[in-house]
Amino acid sequence: MSEQTSRSNDAVTAQYDAYLTPIWKNLNVPIKRASGETLEDFDGNEYLDAFSGISVTNVGHNNEAVVEAAKDQLDEFVHGCSYVHPNAPVGELAERLASETPGDLTKSFFCNSGTEAVEGAIKLARKYTGSTEVLALEMGFHGRTLGSLALTGNKAYKNGMAPTINDVSHVEPPYGYRCPSCEGETCTAACAENVERVIGTHTADDLAAIVVEPVMGEGGIIVPPEGWLERVQEIAHEHDALLIADEVQTGYGRTGELWAVDHFDVVPDIITQAKGIANGLPLGAFTAREEIADAFESGDHLSTFGGNPVACAAALATLEELQDGIIDNAREQGAWLEDELAALESEFDVVGDTRGLGLMYGLEIVDPSTDGPRGVAPAPDAKLAKSVAADLREEGIVIGVGGYYSNVIRLQPPLTIDRSQLERIVAALRSALEAEEE
Ligand code: PLP
Repeated sequence: MSEQTSRSNDAVTAQYDAYLTPIWKNLNVPIKRASGETLEDFDGNEYLDAFSGISVTNVGHNNEAVVEAAKDQLDEFVHGCSYVHPNAPVGELAERLASETPGDLTKSFFCNSGTEAVEGAIKLARKYTGSTEVLALEMGFHGRTLGSLALTGNKAYKNGMAPTINDVSHVEPPYGYRCPSCEGETCTAACAENVERVIGTHTADDLAAIVVEPVMGEGGIIVPPEGWLERVQEIAHEHDALLIADEVQTGYGRTGELWAVDHFDVVPDIITQAKGIANGLPLGAFTAREEIADAFESGDHLSTFGGNPVACAAALATLEELQDGIIDNAREQGAWLEDELAALESEFDVVGDTRGLGLMYGLEIVDPSTDGPRGVAPAPDAKLAKSVAADLREEGIVIGVGGYYSNVIRLQPPLTIDRSQLERIVAALRSALEAEEE
């Protein structure tokens, strides 16, 4: 038995406690191996995965074609794994992205993570426009390095570490359920005018970019109302600024289209990618229109391991797999899930709202008897959301809990998930909510 297979959950978590920084504590079940939609921990327990490492393993854990592609490329071991000499997979991937990304986004830069992709994109926008101000959404999440953390609106992530970089302002998101700008639950495209208001107050004529997640992930699965994103892009262009779509979480089929912006009438100026791009191998990218990308001169932005051949080979295989009916499956299963979650919302008062697209869904868990933000009921109930997630874990199902108020149950399974697995998740949610109500 190898050392890895002989370990227990306790031994693995003890090592985390002793030798890793505290950020790693309490994350989730330790995982020894995974396959398709199933995770196995070090004690031999199996779990149905409804979170995919936060939308990473979109084509299923340990996807055979992706693993084979990575292994084949590793056998070549081209100058280790770096980007310094031109290699074949990165060129092929860049060419593929030129046709797979929306509109005329044809030039890519590769890095290792989502946070780096966002950093690179804002740097490029600043270089291209000659301006410095960046606008982002108050509930948005863009990563945890200094630049991306500055864009991340939720102060909980900053925990006293602000300011990170200067010249970043935030604007209210189109969060229909608790939108302060509109009546009741109907957020409209008019909420985009908040963007104009913030520009008028904070950024003068120096706006480089507006950065948005087309569907907010960490903020609590928030889909903007019709026309909102289009209007935000119009406003960006009226101010000679760029629209950066952060598709780190939404890209690669998650929302039932290859890109979340495909649901809207928008071609962003730059699109950022990571997470699902290589189905679990570290890779990030941003892709821009040629005239924008060419603002970077040689040496302006580099990454030793970014675009390494092994991750790029895995990314090419991931794109192939996605063409093979997996995005259609996400759309079809998502439509079924949407109806089932709506039924839970009408059955249980503690389910305040359900929303999402494709296989990216959130259930907002609330305490209907208590006032919430701005004195308006219902209050977010983070404790109950956590408890429901723990109940599902007991049933062998891993789900996420997040959102601006930490009260949103998140369902983001591998896009390969089938109906019977989803039925199991919905049944477990119903039982957990019934038990919590008693
Ligand atoms: N952008 C978005 C929209 C994300 O959801 C995340 C991570 O959750 C990031 C950026 C940061 O990506 P990474 O964790 O790969 O740095």
